[in-house]
Amino acid sequence: MTVTANSTRYLFEPLPIPVLPVRGSDRLFPVHRIYCVGRNYAEHAIEMGHDPNREPPFFFQKNPDTLVVNGEFPYPDKSSDVHHEFELVVALAKGGKDIPAERALDCVFGYAVGLDMTRRDLQGEAKKLGRPWEVGKAFEFAAPCSEIVPASAIGHPSKGSVWLKVNGEMRQKGDLSQLIWKIPEVIAYLSGLFVLKPGDLIFSGTPAGVAAVKRGDRLHGGVEGVGELEVRVV
Ligand code: MN
Repeated sequence: MTVTANSTRYLFEPLPIPVLPVRGSDRLFPVHRIYCVGRNYAEHAIEMGHDPNREPPFFFQKNPDTLVVNGEFPYPDKSSDVHHEFELVVALAKGGKDIPAERALDCVFGYAVGLDMTRRDLQGEAKKLGRPWEVGKAFEFAAPCSEIVPASAIGHPSKGSVWLKVNGEMRQKGDLSQLIWKIPEVIAYLSGLFVLKPGDLIFSGTPAGVAAVKRGDRLHGGVEGVGELEVRVV
């Protein structure tokens, strides 16, 4: 059940809707859900100890209120092994169910670049015990993200370098052309499992080179043709 945004029936004031800025506009992108694709670059699948063959994609979610846009990532509690995963982010302006791959890009408003920050030690323990991943993936401030760049300005990138430097040193390097599941295929798959909505974000997976961060680190990443993101671990 839902009620209108200004309903007088709320017991208390609802929390504000998470938003992302949009390049070249003072309008804001209201975020509904954050879906993330696991192991979508072969080299990263291998470094995590998995088969890089084209198995069906799998997904997890982060909570929309874990987005950070102020360039700071507060190092989280209960972990001593927090990893960066730098990714292309897809922002949907339209949704639906069972969207065919050929029409999937019609749903895309634009693209951003983001970090799928991961408490790797807690995720590893969850994997071992067959438990859910939220403690490793959906903690506070776990999704630093850039502004969204409209597809009307840059098109739909399918190739171009994806890179992340930490303190000026290259740590992650890949190319969008190496995505195991391409963006239209990801949207098609996901829309078979969930009803996609305007405002959904999809973190598309990370290239190889994930590693631990520490307080004081400066993360600087970019996706060619989309944008860049600078984040300081505090
Ligand atoms: Mn990821």
